[in-house]
Amino acid sequence: MTGIEDIKEFLSYPREIVIFSHRNPDGDAIGSSTALKLYLEKNGHTVNIVFPSEYPPAFSFVPKIDDIVVYDFEQEKVKNLVKRAELMFFLDFSGLDRIDKIGELVIDSHSMKVHIDHHLDPEPFADYVLSEPSASSTSELIYDFLGMLDDRKFMDADIATQILMGIITDTGSFKFSTSPKTFEVASNLLKYGVDLNELQNNIYNSYTEKQVRLIGHALHNRLEIIPEYHAGIITITKKDYKDFDIQRGDTEGLVNYILMIKKIKIAALILEQPTIVKISLRSKGDISVQEIARDNFKGGGHKNAAGGYAYGKVENVVEKFKKLLPFYIKK
Ligand code: 5GP
Ligand code: MN
Repeated sequence: MTGIEDIKEFLSYPREIVIFSHRNPDGDAIGSSTALKLYLEKNGHTVNIVFPSEYPPAFSFVPKIDDIVVYDFEQEKVKNLVKRAELMFFLDFSGLDRIDKIGELVIDSHSMKVHIDHHLDPEPFADYVLSEPSASSTSELIYDFLGMLDDRKFMDADIATQILMGIITDTGSFKFSTSPKTFEVASNLLKYGVDLNELQNNIYNSYTEKQVRLIGHALHNRLEIIPEYHAGIITITKKDYKDFDIQRGDTEGLVNYILMIKKIKIAALILEQPTIVKISLRSKGDISVQEIARDNFKGGGHKNAAGGYAYGKVENVVEKFKKLLPFYIKK
């Protein structure tokens, strides 16, 4: 059994470390990975972050974001990093299928593996696991982890800002998955000198004109309400992708608008992507979209925010979702 003391001991020498997070990295994946990287670098370690796919350009303000290695673009480099790694971190995902082919590369590696995550149903693949589904975000758990490691003695404003970015983005600015502890952590982070105004502007007031127009289009023309099941569905078609020149990250947050309607209890965003149909689910209260995603769309996530994917025609995926509603939602 590997304990925190073993990790501390291991980190008492400069190490080659790789941090992995999930496909389509979001604010929590980017924030937790960057915070951990900056922290470990201050300790004298060599640290690389690897994502399976590209990060949204909206995160260009994040320190050292250009250093992130994207497997889709640099497969050989990732293979070399995996070979050299003495310690690997796996952040913000519960199962290795979320890092695609990288999963096969790392599973054979003899390096020490640390898994830090807040999703349901964590897969047992690491030597040390910090899994806490009640945590607001993986970033909140990074704050805890740094405390366990050495009382956060290397924490600074940049690192605190990245942790807070992960917390703010994953909780929709403290709207969901937020506990008294989340506010306590946020309050402590501010004491390290985070510029909260700048961070909020970077996260929420940095949309492009076309992204805002896409929100208008999606809500006006693509939203279907199914009143008897308190459900709302936005479907974004290939034509929309072309007409609005939709890039990675541009549809982020769209699904949450559906939940703004008082009577809506479950929301779906269905995206017609080149090879898959991606589905993002949100719910209010006791409806578990995690179960819906896990049992029907090869996915998972949290009780009130989950996602998955399917193959085939987008209309068929919409139909499949509608047919599931009677089983999960009372009229
Ligand atoms: P989003 O809808 O914002 O993409 O994701 C919401 C939540 O569901 C996130 O916590 C994310 O990790 C999870 N999720 C989204 N897509 C997938 C997927 O394809 N597989 C799994 N296992 N989880 C997903
Ligand atoms: Mn997260």
